Amino acid sequence: MKQENKNLVTNYSSAKYSWLKSGGKISHLYKIHKQNNLINLFNDNEIREKSLLVIGNLSNTLIKDEGFNGIGIKLGGDFTTVQIKTDHMLVGAAVLDNYLSKFCYQNAISGYEFLYTIPGTVGGNIFMNAGCYNQEIKDKLISVIFFDINDNKVYEKSINELKFDYRVGFQKKNTIILYGKFKITHGYQKNIKNLMLEYDNIRNQTQPQKVNCCGSIFKNPINYSAWKLIKSSIDDSFYEGPIKLSKIHSNFFENEANISANSIVSFISNIQKKVKDKHKILLERELRIID
Ligand SMILES: Cc1cc2nc3c(=O)[nH]c(=O)nc-3n(C[C@H](O)[C@H](O)[C@H](O)COP(=O)(O)OP(=O)(O)OC[C@H]3O[C@@H](n4cnc5c(N)ncnc54)[C@H](O)[C@@H]3O)c2cc1C
Repeated sequence: MKQENKNLVTNYSSAKYSWLKSGGKISHLYKIHKQNNLINLFNDNEIREKSLLVIGNLSNTLIKDEGFNGIGIKLGGDFTTVQIKTDHMLVGAAVLDNYLSKFCYQNAISGYEFLYTIPGTVGGNIFMNAGCYNQEIKDKLISVIFFDINDNKVYEKSINELKFDYRVGFQKKNTIILYGKFKITHGYQKNIKNLMLEYDNIRNQTQPQKVNCCGSIFKNPINYSAWKLIKSSIDDSFYEGPIKLSKIHSNFFENEANISANSIVSFISNIQKKVKDKHKILLERELRIID
């Protein structure tokens, strides 16, 4: 890299910061606090031509052991704020879900209770179209503001122009999601809080807690539950060992910290194969695997 940049971290350990506590290194990770920093960075042709990886809270990402050799971007600073405007909320892509949910509660804004239980960032949510309890981020979004590294420009696209689907959000190549504009619907704080606690309760009872995991491994195929397909396809050995399926929820795995990311990838492929052999259904991964 040509210029010295105090916001550049070389050999950034994804294992240290990811929810799985596993994963290879990012060769060059830039911490971006302001829109201008982004424009200056991608003015450099050498940087623009390299592969791009944006990371949020690494709650749905596993980087293979070989690591990611390219430009990593992690947003902070201006992108960690929530601003209430007359008819929408402007939310930075680096805002944590749990923070946004609590912010909405404090401001008597309803509809964001489900985010209380998701451990990602708003950028990750918009990329994934994250959701739970019959709600998805697309239902709340008005528009996405993003940076296009090829044009070195910021654009805004209305949700009506975008094709979000089940766990497929804004996935345009060579772009960085900067902000989401979100709907505002007012509600009673008491009701909002009750719903947040109810969702949290359901989650505590139905999913593993305080373990290294990535949430659901696979998407649910239409008319099927991934966990049921998995449970009916595998033997007990999948519930034991340093990477194992959760006994509470078979579409979750738990792993020991610093275990090889590639061994997690093999574990997941094995499950996929078992389900394919038994049910003739190819499960599609929800977890993003980067190589
Ligand atoms: C315990 C647990 C429970 C979970 N429960 C749910 C759930 O109920 N529902 C659900 O949908 N998900 C769930 N997840 C998965 C995960 O939290 C979501 O997918 C979340 O939206 C990912 O956000 P993140 O910031 O961690 O993204 P990351 O894992 O950092 O990134 C995910 C993808 O988004 C891209 N990305 C992130 N930020 C940006 C950006 N600013 N611009 C462009 N691309 C970006 C990354 O490149 C990557 O491809 C769960 C995960 C865990 C660990």
